[in-house]
Amino acid sequence: MAQQKAEWGNQMKNEGLDDMTLLSKVTNDQILDNLKKRFEKDIIYTNIGDVLISVNPFKFIDGMYSDEVLQEYIGKSRIELPPHVFAVAEQTYRSMINEKENQCVIISGESGAGKTEAAKKIMQYIADVSGERGSSSNKKVEHVKSIILETNPLLEAFGNAKTLRNNNSSRFGKYFEIQFNQSNEPEGGKITNYLLEKSRVVFQLKGERNFHIFYQFCKGATPQEQQEFGIYGPENFAYLTKGDTLDIDGVDDVEEFALTRNAMNVIGIPANEQKQIFKLLAAILWIGNIDFKEQAGDKVTISDTSVLDFVSQLLDVPSHFLKTALEFRQMETRHGNQRGTQYNVPLNKTQAIAGRDALAKAIYDRLFNWLVDRINKEMDNPQKGLMIGVLDIYGFEVFDRNGFEQFCINYVNEKLQQIFIEFTLKMEQEEYVREGIKWEPIPFFDNKIVCELIEGKNPPGIFSILDDVCRAVHSQAEGADQKLLQSIGVCKSNPHFDTRGNAFCVKHYAGDVVYEGPGMIEKNKDTLLKDHLEILQMSANNFLVALFPDVIDTDSKKLPSTAGFKIKSQAADLVATLMKSTPHYIRTIKPNDLKKPNILEGSRVLHQVKYLGLLDNIKVRRAGFAYRSTFERFFQRYYLLSDKTCYAGNNIWKGDALSACRAILASQNVDTTQYQIGKTKIFIRYPEMLFSLEETRERY
Ligand code: ATP
Ligand code: MG
Repeated sequence: MAQQKAEWGNQMKNEGLDDMTLLSKVTNDQILDNLKKRFEKDIIYTNIGDVLISVNPFKFIDGMYSDEVLQEYIGKSRIELPPHVFAVAEQTYRSMINEKENQCVIISGESGAGKTEAAKKIMQYIADVSGERGSSSNKKVEHVKSIILETNPLLEAFGNAKTLRNNNSSRFGKYFEIQFNQSNEPEGGKITNYLLEKSRVVFQLKGERNFHIFYQFCKGATPQEQQEFGIYGPENFAYLTKGDTLDIDGVDDVEEFALTRNAMNVIGIPANEQKQIFKLLAAILWIGNIDFKEQAGDKVTISDTSVLDFVSQLLDVPSHFLKTALEFRQMETRHGNQRGTQYNVPLNKTQAIAGRDALAKAIYDRLFNWLVDRINKEMDNPQKGLMIGVLDIYGFEVFDRNGFEQFCINYVNEKLQQIFIEFTLKMEQEEYVREGIKWEPIPFFDNKIVCELIEGKNPPGIFSILDDVCRAVHSQAEGADQKLLQSIGVCKSNPHFDTRGNAFCVKHYAGDVVYEGPGMIEKNKDTLLKDHLEILQMSANNFLVALFPDVIDTDSKKLPSTAGFKIKSQAADLVATLMKSTPHYIRTIKPNDLKKPNILEGSRVLHQVKYLGLLDNIKVRRAGFAYRSTFERFFQRYYLLSDKTCYAGNNIWKGDALSACRAILASQNVDTTQYQIGKTKIFIRYPEMLFSLEETRERY
C-alpha cells in the first residue's frame, strides 16, 4: 500500500487537481480539462470540496477497491488521501458518529454514469468498517450486514435491465437506510423503492431486454423447474423477445442466477417462497404467450387454449374464468346509486392485448414490492437509532421516444437537482446572509421553475393536468389522448414547456426532452381491472392472493390514486427525509455513449459538467467556508485546546460560548482571515485548519 500511495501522490502532482476548488481559472473548459487529464491516467475520482465527482471508467481498475485501499481510508479525513468513494463513505460514517446526526449519500448522474456501482461501494465500506470485522458477537448485526451486501444482486436481478444507455440500468429508485445501534453497528435497515418501470415486463425497445431475472431463470432453471413451470430458453417467450436481445456482452445469466438464488438464501427467503416467486415469473411469461384470434363483430378468442390452461394452472385459477376475464370486460348497469345487473362486453384485439399485458405488469409489480417488503422484514429493527441513507435512483434519460416512464424518472432527477441546489448553493448563501457573514453572492440556475411546471398545483402542473384528464375520461378510455393534448397547452405560460404536435417538450435542467402524449393517460391511470382483481383473488394460491389485498371499489366516482400522484408524494417524502439528514454528494459522469473504456467524449462530458452545475458549485465553494459549527458545539469539541476553557481536564469555563470559541482560536494562534464569526455560528474557511485542530485535540 505504501507504494500505491506514493504512486497516487505522484499522479496528484502531474495529473490534474484532486480538488477543483483550487483550479487556477474557474471555467467549464478547465473543469473538463482536469477531469480528462485524470481520466486518461485512470483517476476517476475528483473532489469539489466535499462533493465527489466520479467519471465512469467502464473497466475494472486494478486495486482500486481492494481491501488494502479500503483499510487505508479508515479514520482518515477527506484531504489526507486521494479522492475516492471510500473517502465519502468514511466521512459519512464518522460524521454520524461524531455529530450524532442522520446522514445521507445522494448519488446523481445520468443513466449509465455509475450511481449504482458507487452505492454498492458505499454499502460495502460501511458493512466492512462498522463493528468488529466478521467476528461480531451480535448475530443480528452479522445478518443485517450480509443483507446489506446481498440485496444488491437480488434487487438488481428483479429491478435492473439492459437498456440502450446502460447494460445494467436500474429501472426503479431505491433509498436504502441502514440503522445503527449504540455501538455504531448496523442493526437494521429499510429500503424504500420508487416506481418500477413495469411496462418493461411486456415491451422492450430494439436492443433492450426485459428485467434480468427472466433471462437468468430461463437459462438457469433446474430440470425440475423447467418441467413444473414450463420454462425453456428465453427465445420461446414473447415478452422476452421484443427487443431482439437475449444476451448481454460479458454477462453470464446462468452464473448471475446462481448469485440471485444465493442472495435469496442469505437474506432468508425460504425455499417455499422462492418456489412461489418462480411460479409467478413463469405465469407472467406464459401470459405473454397468450394470443388472440379476431372473430366477426370485433371480438376475440384466445388462439391456443392449452396456453390458457397452463397459465390457469400456474396461477391456480379456474381456466374458464380467466378466459372470460381476458376476452370480455364486465360492465354493470347503474341507476343512480343503485347497482344493476352485470353483463359482459367483448373486447377487440387491441383491448384484449392491453388487458393481458396489464395483468402481467400488475403481477410483476406486486411481486417486486413484495420482495422489497420481505427484505425489509428481515432487517426490521424496533430500536430506531442513527441512520445512514444511500439514494440510488434511475438516472436522467432521453431516448428517441420518451413516454410516461421517462417523464417520471426525469421528474425525480429534477427534484434531486433541487435538493442539491438547496443544500449546496441556496442554503449556503442564505446562511451567510442570516449569520451576517461577508459574502459575494453567486448567481446560479434554480430549477425550481421546472419542478413547478411538473408538480405545481396553481397554476396546474403537468401531473395535475394528467390527473384531471384521467378524472374527466374515467369511463371512456377513448379520447383521453386527444383531451390531454387540448388541456396541456396551458403549461405554455412556463418558459420550460412547449408543445410539438402529439407531443410536448420539457426543458429539463439536464436537457430538452420530448414526451409523447398518447399513452400517458392510460399509464397515469394505472388501475387494475376489476375483472383481473377478481380472478386473482379467486386463486387457490395464498401467496398470489396476498399480493392483491385490494378492496374492489364499487363506487366508480372515486378515482383511485394515479401513478403520477404516487410518484409525486413519494418524491415529497424522499425530499423531506433527505432534508432532515446531513447530505454527502457523489455526482457521476458518463464519459461516452458507447459504454466503452478509455474514451472520453469532450462534448458529452462538458454537457454534464454544465447541467450538474459544477462551475457554480466551485464558485460557491471558493467564496465560502468549508466548515461551520454553532458556538456551543465548537466549544464542546475543542475546549481542551485552551487553558482558559479547560482546567485539569474539567470544563470550568463560566463565560458564554462565543468568548470560549474566541479563547480557543486565540490559544491556537489561528489567523483571523481563516474564520469568521457569525451570529450563532463560527465559519472556518479551509478544512486544513479544522484538521489541525482535530490533530491537536487527539494529543490531549
Ligand atoms: P442507471 O441510471 O441506468 O441505473 P447508473 O448510474 O446506476 O445508471 P451503473 O449501473 O452504476 O450506472 O454503471 C453502469 C456500468 O458502468 C456498470 O455496470 C459498470 O460496468 C460500469 N461502471 C460504473 N461505475 C464503475 C466503476 N467505478 N468502475 C468500473 N466500472 C464501472
Ligand atoms: Mg443504476
